[in-house]
Amino acid sequence: MNSGSSSVKYQLLDMRDGARLAMGLVERIGERTSRLKHTPAGRESRERDEPIADHEAALKAVARELAADGLGLDSPELAAIGHRVVHGGRRFTEPTVIDEAVLAEIERLIPVAPLHNPANLTGIRTAHTLRPDLPQVAVFDTAFHTTMPESAARYAIDVETADAHRVRRYGFHGTSHAYVSRATAELLGRRPEDVNVIVLHLGNGASASAVRGGRCVDTSMGLTPLEGLVMGTRSGDMDPAVIFHLMRVGGMSADEIDTLLNKKSGLIGLCGDNDMREIRRRVDEGDERAALAFDIYIHRLKKYIGAYYAVLGRVDALAFTAGVGENASAVREAAVAGLEQLGLAVDSGLNAARGEGPRLISPAGARVAVAVVPTDEELEIATQTYALVAKNG
Ligand code: AMP
Repeated sequence: MNSGSSSVKYQLLDMRDGARLAMGLVERIGERTSRLKHTPAGRESRERDEPIADHEAALKAVARELAADGLGLDSPELAAIGHRVVHGGRRFTEPTVIDEAVLAEIERLIPVAPLHNPANLTGIRTAHTLRPDLPQVAVFDTAFHTTMPESAARYAIDVETADAHRVRRYGFHGTSHAYVSRATAELLGRRPEDVNVIVLHLGNGASASAVRGGRCVDTSMGLTPLEGLVMGTRSGDMDPAVIFHLMRVGGMSADEIDTLLNKKSGLIGLCGDNDMREIRRRVDEGDERAALAFDIYIHRLKKYIGAYYAVLGRVDALAFTAGVGENASAVREAAVAGLEQLGLAVDSGLNAARGEGPRLISPAGARVAVAVVPTDEELEIATQTYALVAKNG
């Protein structure tokens, strides 16, 4: 389960083979026009537009849909419910069975994840009321990044101030970076312990990570998901003094700047579109604003590839994932263009070809493998959850 402030995404998986039995999404919870979209495996989606007051009503509606497919939540075969939790701070380095103490700690982290952790908590509490007998497991977006050394995790600011307010780099999208770095090693036919991978998770939110032998050593998101790459609506890196300038000279409030940088910046701020398909269409038509937005996006991406190459020293693979990374061949081509000296290149035929699973797009015999590796955060959450529950008996 992936609970947002006004939405719940869910999947039901059979962990004997990882098969997806059903998936769906409840949107606009608490509004007058809520929507539930439920898709049983191999069958047509069903959509319902009806008011859904809160997360409890949402989960009950989901339970009804599942029951209609013969997959009731009361099934004795249901082994556990895994929840995506965005912020696990420094303490949660592994998936964790949820109890009162864990709930309290997730709650204590709300100041560093004010939008996400409260929604995740609501989802956990609601799922518990429906099946109090089942283990509920928290899988943290930050967990994979807790292996970062202090040199990468600390900002160079006064240590006492930073520690008093828990200001440090936590990183996000960890479930995806973990899954994709492992799947990339598998694609190369090698053990994760033996390979160094740069993962580029390019979706509407975007982050890069440097993974040495299966452990994350650096990632581009920081205290919050705002740092790093240019994203659909987030600025990524900039001089922090931009904020003081906008306050002092622009007369903007902290909340206004928060909204500006998280929701009205990045690709949408630069050219009015955040969908890479639309941006590429405009670029092809000669639209200059779209072309500049694309160039800024690629420039930042290249800087991170170079930085993480230097951090790792030796790179075995560069993996592209998420909506943009998996689909936008123009982004992949532009991101590695000119990096031949680093052993990085794409074969234009392989890069342009459509494909389903993980695949190589670098030329035969390339020093560094370049790959497209579709992410599957839900499968990773379910896999980690099931492994923990199975271990605990
Ligand atoms: P995600 O957050 O991983 O779901 O990625 C969503 C983003 O992927 C969208 O905003 C689009 O920019 C991008 N995207 C999805 N499909 C394509 C495609 N076929 N070509 C280019 N970009 C795409």
